[in-house]
Amino acid sequence: MPDTNRTVRVRMAPSPTGYFHLGSARTALFNWLYARRTGGRFILRIEDTDRTRLVPDSLQDIMDSLRWLDLQWDEGPAVGGAYGPYFQSERLPLYHEWGERLISAGLAYRCYCSEERIEALREGQRARKEPIIGYDRHCRTLTAAQRADLEASGATSVIRFAMPLEGETRFVDLLRKIKPFDNDHYRDPILVKTDGFPTYHFANVIDDHFMEITHILRGDEWLSSVPLHVNLYDALGWEIPVFAHLPLILDPSGVGKLSKRKKKGEGGEELLTFIREYRAAGYLPEAMFNFLAGMGWAYSPDTDLFTRRQAIERFDLADINPAAGALPLSKLEWMNGHYIRGLDPEDLAERLLPFLAESLAQPIESLWHNPALPVLVPLIQERLKTLDEAAALIDFAFVEEISYDPQMLVAKGLTPVLSLAALQAAGSLLAELPFTEEGMDVPLRGLADRLGVKVGQLFGILRVATTGKNIAPPLFGSMIALGRARTLARCAQAEELLRRM
Ligand code: GLU
Repeated sequence: MPDTNRTVRVRMAPSPTGYFHLGSARTALFNWLYARRTGGRFILRIEDTDRTRLVPDSLQDIMDSLRWLDLQWDEGPAVGGAYGPYFQSERLPLYHEWGERLISAGLAYRCYCSEERIEALREGQRARKEPIIGYDRHCRTLTAAQRADLEASGATSVIRFAMPLEGETRFVDLLRKIKPFDNDHYRDPILVKTDGFPTYHFANVIDDHFMEITHILRGDEWLSSVPLHVNLYDALGWEIPVFAHLPLILDPSGVGKLSKRKKKGEGGEELLTFIREYRAAGYLPEAMFNFLAGMGWAYSPDTDLFTRRQAIERFDLADINPAAGALPLSKLEWMNGHYIRGLDPEDLAERLLPFLAESLAQPIESLWHNPALPVLVPLIQERLKTLDEAAALIDFAFVEEISYDPQMLVAKGLTPVLSLAALQAAGSLLAELPFTEEGMDVPLRGLADRLGVKVGQLFGILRVATTGKNIAPPLFGSMIALGRARTLARCAQAEELLRRM
């Protein structure tokens, strides 16, 4: 058993083959939480050995996503550390050395079979419907002379692991009971490929050992790789870390795997799968943290809400629920609203800036200095679920011209003529009134009375005239944000539209 007194060292080991996924983020978060809980170290290691699948900007995306979630790694790219390099592509000599050592010990061997031979072998196995598709161990029994001939002929080779030919492999997972795996299933997997790069399995085991990883927390799709890893640890004579395979996250309906993304139109909402997409959709990292931590773990039976600090105080691997769970997306919306409401309005304004800038095509700088911003943000804070909803509510204050369907100016139950009269009267009043909420409230309500229209009708006309919308922030605040001059100018324009009806 591993020495439990050792400092906890956990790692996130993504392959830079795509953008950082929701499931990867949950794995990273649990690793991070466990490190913080135990005073251990959280390591980021980049598993870039599959050269054919590299996606150039994915490394940046992985780091940006982790930083956005505030899951800072203690060792790894950009920060360094005593166990580097943290890119597997920079550790090739280590893998070669251990490959050779295994060969010398008779625990691995060079295989010279061509890809064509392997493919033909597989096709045959498939055609015969054999239960196990795999290598036939042809090169495992080559004689020294045969090997020498093949080497002399310049044949390319891979290094394969000589798995035990029979028997079963058992291992312990902290979260679930594991049935023994049949060794025959693993027909001498490749450790080092013809391009000199190690396979995932080999590099992963070597690095976890040399980086002194104590606990391996990762998605349960890796469970079937563990028997091979365990045999490798044994062959290398190394201590086996603690395994905890985290539950699968299913799509919101609880049916399919999350990775199978639905596109818009294909039966519902587009499912966001990458952290960058949640970020772009206006979710707060605080909400995302809480949400991800709640998938498979619970801070308390009474509430879904907890802070980062609370999670660190209570997190325990033993409390992770190993059952796969559906992605509770509606909970995320609700949580996000909760965290938005809890922000200091100035902080919220700052976080809204990039969203407003993009949607309004205006520089952040000019938006930041616009006096309408601090007036409007507190007015919409209560109702925002995501940051990207703000622009549609408050854009009217940041543009010169608003456009809308003039029919919207005709209040329900009123004619255009009566709507015009109400708007004109309100305009005259607004030219005189103190431009504050208290200054406008009583006189405008009194006006509605005198005109014999409902307050809702009058305010509705004014809302459309000044914002171009039926749904906008509270009316007085909207007008204050615009200022008297722009409010009156917009009323005058609306009067003109009504006159033309
Ligand atoms: N490189 C693997 C991945 O992309 C790492 C799996 C593991 O944590 O062992 O998920």
